[in-house]
Amino acid sequence: MNTIHTDVAIIGAGSAGLSAYRAAKAAGASAILIEGGAHGTTCARVGCMPSKLLIAAADAAYHAAHGAAFGVHVDGAVRIDGREVMARVKRERDRFVGFVVAGVDAMPDADKLTGYARFIDDNLLQVGDHTRVHAKSVVIATGSSPVMPAMYRALGDRAVINDDVFAWDDLPKRVAVIGAGVIGLELGQALARLGVRVSVLGARGRVGPLTDPDVRAYAQRVFSEAFHFEPRAQVESAVREGDEVRVRYVSSEGKLIEDTFDYVLVAAGRKPNVGGLALHDTSLELDDDGLPVYDALTLQAGTHPVFIAGDANGVLPLLHEAADEGRAAGTNAARYPHVEPVERRAPIAIAFTDPGIAMVGARHVDLAADSFVTGEVSFEDQGRSRVMLRNRGLMHVYVHRGSRRFVGAEWIGPDAEHIAHLLAWGLQMKLTVDEMLRMPFYHPVVEEGLRTALRDAASKLM
Ligand SMILES: Cc1cc2nc3c(=O)[nH]c(=O)nc-3n(C[C@H](O)[C@H](O)[C@H](O)COP(=O)(O)OP(=O)(O)OC[C@H]3O[C@@H](n4cnc5c(N)ncnc54)[C@H](O)[C@@H]3O)c2cc1C
Repeated sequence: MNTIHTDVAIIGAGSAGLSAYRAAKAAGASAILIEGGAHGTTCARVGCMPSKLLIAAADAAYHAAHGAAFGVHVDGAVRIDGREVMARVKRERDRFVGFVVAGVDAMPDADKLTGYARFIDDNLLQVGDHTRVHAKSVVIATGSSPVMPAMYRALGDRAVINDDVFAWDDLPKRVAVIGAGVIGLELGQALARLGVRVSVLGARGRVGPLTDPDVRAYAQRVFSEAFHFEPRAQVESAVREGDEVRVRYVSSEGKLIEDTFDYVLVAAGRKPNVGGLALHDTSLELDDDGLPVYDALTLQAGTHPVFIAGDANGVLPLLHEAADEGRAAGTNAARYPHVEPVERRAPIAIAFTDPGIAMVGARHVDLAADSFVTGEVSFEDQGRSRVMLRNRGLMHVYVHRGSRRFVGAEWIGPDAEHIAHLLAWGLQMKLTVDEMLRMPFYHPVVEEGLRTALRDAASKLM
């Protein structure tokens, strides 16, 4: 058994862990980065990047088939070659992964350990069966994994998760997507646009992350036209029959439906990877889910020299948040017991559907009823959106009554990923609706729709 002493041990070499490692080193500490699985990060290997590559192919297929309204016709069928689609997804994905792996390869060998880590006590880790690491402080950056309910686990290789989709060599014909969160909607719509017969079965009426009832209802209508969408399905059984899966569910309208699929893609939420860490062998206080009780500001578990960052803490499972939290956790771990709060950016979340879904700042559900006014724009008659035949969408912006400050927005609509950035920057700069309306708006652009929503909010504050 090898024994290593270090200032900071980081468990997990994903986006949070890599960022924690760099920050700990920059703070002058010695650091060991421990990775049990494949290097390359969830984002690059099986998350953000391959999903956007699949979506890009899906959008190409969609636009090739939908030019007729502009007078642009494809005489003959648009042919989607599933093998070529998946080959490009994997080829480009491997390129992105390659950049991350090259970064890891460039790190000093003495700073890297391969193997799954678990705690022996607060400051001692067992890595694989070969090494013990004594660390003055530890960063848990172990990421998250999809939840796989027992009913689907029994389907063997016919129940798949996002990781498996990006390993496909070809596209299947029929897929049931379980879960209408961001991952379910993104992958469900992409597969549907690529010619796969898709049913997206949500359970609790969710449409991605949306909490504003009007925007959610609008988005539900949009997606119901794009694929078979059941936001409130009760799945009664999923049974494997040869290489097919027979799914029986009660639809959102209360009808009993039986359908057959090649795969069930389970996208019903993710849970932090803390089960294998033997946290019960530490003196850390654990919550009901077995997660260390920690301070969301400093990411510190109690007063212990243990910090938890990225998807592992289950709070904001997004790439840029993982990187920010990793940086803060790495710095705090290096400087322990002197710890500082994470510098949080304005909240921003995007689903890369078409139309896109975006949320900035406070969620509608979290705002006190009388504290704000809602400005609205429909993108159906919005000039540039209509020019491009992308005129589907509804935006709500929320403005605080007393201060006139912009506090949040939820919407579905064209170019949502870009407008989300304008709004997030405005929020972080603490702009009032009047200050935002004094900003430039070119013509004709989709952002003019945002201006309509802001004007609507301002008029309600008169
Ligand atoms: C399909 C999909 C699409 C997504 N799209 C987006 C998007 O468009 N935009 C966005 O912002 N976010 C997106 N995300 C979320 C984003 O990918 C994650 O928030 C981010 O990758 C989390 O990084 P992390 O460092 O916390 O975890 P990870 O990158 O998963 O790193 C954790 C690492 O810890 C290792 N590990 C676990 N346990 C141990 C142990 N005991 N010992 C040693 N090593 C261990 C794992 O092997 C892993 O390498 C998406 C996620 C998915 C699944």
